[in-house]
Parts: sequence; structure tokens; C-alpha cells
Amino acid sequence: MARVFNFGAGPATLPEPVLEQAAAEMLDWHGTGMSVMEMSHRGKAFIGIHARAEADLRELLAVPKNYKVLFLHGGAAAQFAMVPMNLLRGRTVAAYVNSGHWSGRAIAEAKRYCKVDIAASSADANFTYAPAQERWSIDPGAAYVHYTSNETIGGVEFHWIPDTGAIPLVADASSHILSRPLDVSRFGLVYAGAQKNIGPAGVAIVIVREDLIGRASPLTPAIFDYRVQAEADSMHNTPPGYAIYLAGLVFQWLKKLGGLAKMEEVNIAKAKLVYDYLDETEFYHSPVARADRSRMNIPFTLRNGRLDEAFLKEAGGHGLAELKGHRSAGGMRASIYNAMPVAGVKALVGFMRDFERRYG
Ligand SMILES: *Cc1c(COP(=O)(O)O)cnc(C)c1O
Repeated sequence: MARVFNFGAGPATLPEPVLEQAAAEMLDWHGTGMSVMEMSHRGKAFIGIHARAEADLRELLAVPKNYKVLFLHGGAAAQFAMVPMNLLRGRTVAAYVNSGHWSGRAIAEAKRYCKVDIAASSADANFTYAPAQERWSIDPGAAYVHYTSNETIGGVEFHWIPDTGAIPLVADASSHILSRPLDVSRFGLVYAGAQKNIGPAGVAIVIVREDLIGRASPLTPAIFDYRVQAEADSMHNTPPGYAIYLAGLVFQWLKKLGGLAKMEEVNIAKAKLVYDYLDETEFYHSPVARADRSRMNIPFTLRNGRLDEAFLKEAGGHGLAELKGHRSAGGMRASIYNAMPVAGVKALVGFMRDFERRYG
């Protein structure tokens, strides 16, 4: 079967040239006679792969020198716990913005470690918008402020960086990191699970300001202590080496395409193709406030929900896969990360138009 356009939210589609390169290097990486999966993480070859991945990520995001870049196990969900374990630094309160499913998950986990102060929430409108900065109220004693900069299920993206003054800002950027340039210096910590916009599942990236680490709470397991991992180059234990290698290939691919400013241009154009059509039709509906619509995850519904099944079945027949919305949201969702080509987005909109013509 030919490759499909995969609109899944994660694990998500990967750039085809990256998969081809990984396939070509599978049995014999650069004359070593072994696969990256079989290499010692202490050996010269893997240390080189790891170092290049970090250097390329630093270059893409222009990460300032006083930030550590970590590649860690446990996905983004491990960070829901690691952030409070490491960043409370003796305080008892952390502030969280509640903007949907993933911030809710981060809040539930943080409550095991501290008092959670809800600085802002969009629960009043079923999480269809990003609460404006004027409406945030941050407990001045909070150890940090956490928000989910792109809500993968709700399709709500913060297109601005909140100002939290001297209180460190923490972002779960899992589903839009590397989709646009990011001013890392505005954050205390940024984290992202890989399987949306970076690489395969099994690794999460943490970018953390150096002065915030080294004061983990005493019961923090060593592998969950940012300082321990920073001092061990993320290799306190065996790292998820193959996932780091593939993430590194994705970073090289992004650099070759022209970096994140160029990627952002493409992502704006791709999202516009879908939203322009959603705005002109009555047949489909986008629930998200216009100013806060995500460029990466686009939830939409058919006004006539009885057509959902036919829509998904016919889309699949056209090689458009994984369009079913999250089970908590219903309807449809098109995730169009960096690796989704413009041709895939055009094929989707073309199919949606045709479906409307036939059923509208
Ligand atoms: C997918 C996702 C997560 C969870 O990631 P895991 O790697 O499965 O732990 C957390 N936050 C956001 C915003 C996500 O999109």
C-alpha cells in the first residue's frame, strides 16, 4: 500500500526523507557495521549522534548558553511530575493556566506535590480560547507558572508568550515546538514529548534555565532530577537512543529546509488553506476562537453529525488517515505538523469540498 497522508495527533507523521535515511542506515550506521539501536550509548558513534542532535536543536531554537537541553524518557507526561519535583524549590504553591485537556492532566499531577493556584481558565467556554493575559491572576508566592502553549485536543494555541515577571514561566509545547521560532529566554523551562513534531515516541525534550536546577525535592528519583541528568548529558541511565537519533535527523531536515522562520511561513500557509475553507462553508464548523486557532491541530465538526462515519470512511479511501477527533471531543481533527506536506493539506481540503458537494 502507498503511504497515506496521516493526520493523527501523535504518534504523528514523520518527514519522508528522514524515514528514508533511517532505512538506508538501519543495518550499518556510517560504516560501524551496526544499527544505532545496537550501539553502546557510551561509545564514540552514539555520543556523536547525541551531541549533534543537541547542537542542531540549540541552533534551530537559538537556545541561550545558560539553558540546559535534556533528552529524557517518560514522554511529556513524566514532565507533569518532574516540573513540580524539581522547580518548587521549597515553595508550596505553583500557578497553572487551565486551557483544556493537557493542562488539566498537568494540573492533576501537580496536585500530588503542591497546592495548585489556577491563574486563568477557559472552562467557561468549554476550552475554546486562550485566556488573555489581562485576565490572569498569579499567586505572587507561586514557584512557577505553567501553561500548555498548544492544546492538542482543543486546537487552541497561544500565539503570544505570557509575561509572568520574575516568576519562571513553564510551557508544555509538545504539539507545536519547532513549528515556529521561539524566544527561549522568556521561559524558565520548555518541554515537549517527541511524537508530535520532533520524532518517534520515547523521548521528551526539556530546555531549562540553569539557575532553576539543583534544588529538587528530596524524594525525587535520580533519573527524574534535572541536575543529575544535566551533569550526565541525559545519560544517567541508558537513553532512548534510537528516538534521539531520529529526532536528530528531523533537526537536520529542518535546518536544510531553512530553519524555523521558514517552517513558520509554510505552517501559516497550510493552516490558512484549512481555516479559509472552514470559514466559507456552513457544512463544517470550527469551534475555536479565531485569534487562538492552532496551526498544528484543527478540530472541526460536520454540522450533520450523522455523516461522520461516511466522512471518515471516504477520507480513508482517498488516503487521508486518522481524521477522527479525540474521543473526548468527537467530530474530526486534522493535525498538520511540520512533516505534513502542503500536498496533504490540499488533498484534505479538496476532499472536504467534494464531500460537501455530494452531501451538502
Ligand atoms: C501528547 C501530549 C502530551 C502527552 O505526551 P506523552 O508523551 O504521551 O506523555 C502532553 N502534552 C501535550 C500538549 C500533548 O500534546
